This record gives sequence, structure tokens and C-alpha cells, in this order.
Amino acid sequence: MSNDRPRQRRGLMLVISSPSGAGKTSLSRRLVADHADLELSISATTRGPRPGEHDGREYHFVDPARFHAMIGEDAFLEWAEVHEHRYGSPRAPVMAALEQGRDVLFDIDWQGAMSIAQAAPADVVRVFILPPSMADLSRRLHARAQDAEDVIQRRLGRAYGEIAMWAEYDYVILNDDFDQAYADLAHIYHAERLKRARNPWLKPLVQKLLDEKLS
Ligand code: GDP
Ligand code: ADP
Ligand code: 5GP
Repeated sequence: MSNDRPRQRRGLMLVISSPSGAGKTSLSRRLVADHADLELSISATTRGPRPGEHDGREYHFVDPARFHAMIGEDAFLEWAEVHEHRYGSPRAPVMAALEQGRDVLFDIDWQGAMSIAQAAPADVVRVFILPPSMADLSRRLHARAQDAEDVIQRRLGRAYGEIAMWAEYDYVILNDDFDQAYADLAHIYHAERLKRARNPWLKPLVQKLLDEKLS
């Protein structure tokens, strides 16, 4: 078989969740940077930008009225209330990517993970990131130094409820050593891409192999 034809693959949705500070943003950004056919779903949020965050890069920062209008326009694949703010995954870019056979990574909370998985179970892979300890989680949130102390305390308080959702995920990664956690995530992504059902080009190849007579 010649290799010059593109092998049509069904795009997948890789959904990553964790309590705040467990490392999902760092892990997902690196996975996207390392894979040209994986793109990040940029959520809309009603929370304000952190220092260094830019509109349209980390998030689309919108006011509550705009967010509400977007819900009315059915512009979200899913949306949820998290940490007193609303967060939603815009539908159009995801659909466009999947139609082109590209994969989409979502850095979203467990409610969003559940609703996306319900809507498209065959195309979703859910990964949960665990911190090594609650003390580490607290240290990382403080070291990141981007949230006020009361915001950090609220996020830590909610971490218990989020960690309790771990069994709803297909894979769970312990983010103790970052490079190891990243290798685990990349292995999961690579294996999921190779799944038979995501590679319809295999069927005609197999047919051709079976029909091929050796002389
Ligand atoms: P972080 O958890 O420290 O990265 O803080 P953020 O303010 O960036 O995100 C807060 C929470 O909202 C995290 O649990 C994110 O995974 C979640 N989140 C971000 N975007 C979305 C989204 O589009 N939908 C849903 N359901 N959750 C989201
Ligand atoms: P989240 O998106 O889950 O809130 P981040 O990716 O922002 O988490 O990570 C929180 C902080 O912890 C960041 O400052 C990040 O650099 C740091 N961090 C992430 N993974 C590790 C790790 N394995 N060891 C130490 N620090 C880490
Ligand atoms: P709904 O749940 O139907 O989207 O919104 C219910 C009410 O909440 C409406 O009055 C709406 O204007 C308001 N609302 C919508 N989005 C937000 C938001 O992000 N923050 C706040 N504080 N109120 C909102």
C-alpha cells in the first residue's frame, strides 16, 4: 500500500480534569504543543484573567450577560458552574476540528467531562489527574502565585469533591514527577489514536491483504 494518501482517522475528544493545581493545564499545554493534529478547546469563562492570561489564548473572557447569550444561542457543547464562575466549551471549533480528523483536548471540570461523554461516548477519552498529596496541591497553588489566598482556600476546599469523581474516568494519572505524568498522558493519547474503531482506513487494507494472492 502506498503511503502517499492521508489515512482518514476519526478525531477523538480527550477530556482532562483534576482539582485545581494538580497540573492539568501544564500537562495539556505540553501535549498540544507536541502534537500538530491535537488542538486545545479554548473555553469561555466569566472569571477574570489571571496575570499573564490573554483573551482568546487561555480563555475567551466574557461577561455574565454574554455567557448567558451564548447559552441561548446553543453555542456551547457543555457548560458548568465552577468556583462561582461559569465555564463553557464553544461548540463550533470542536466540530470543525473533528470533521477534519483532528483531535481536541478539553481542560474542563468533572461536570463538563460527564456531559461530553454522555453526548458522544465513542469519541471521548476521559483522563483524571491526581496530586501526590493534598499538601502538595496546596504548595503548587501557592507556588503558582496567581490566585488570592481566599481563592486558593476555596479551590482546595473543593478539591475533595472533585477527587471523589475519579472513578468516572477512563484513566487516572498521578502527577508526582511531571515528566513521568506527561509520558503517561502521551502514551494514553497515542494508544487511543490507534484504536481500531478510530481508523476506518484499516478495513479496506485488511480486505486487500485477504484478497492478495502470492505467486
Ligand atoms: P485551574 O483549575 O486552576 O486551572 O483554574 P481555572 O480557573 O482555569 O479552571 C477552573 C475549573 O474550571 C477547572 O476545573 C477547569 O477544568 C474548569 N473548566 C475550564 N473550562 C471549562 C469548560 O469549558 N467547561 C467546564 N465544564 N469546565 C471548565
Ligand atoms: P491546574 O491546571 O490543574 O490548576 P497547573 O498546570 O496550573 O494546574 O499546575 C499548578 C502548579 O503546579 C503550576 O505552578 C505548575 O507549574 C506546578 N506543577 C504542575 N505539575 C507539577 C509537578 N509534577 N511537580 C511540581 N509542580 C508541578
Ligand atoms: P440560566 O441558568 O437560565 O442560564 O440563567 C438564570 C439567570 O442567571 C438569568 O437571570 C441570567 O441573566 C443569570 N445569569 C446568566 N449567566 C450568569 C452568570 O454567568 N453569572 C451570573 N451571576 N448570573 C448569570
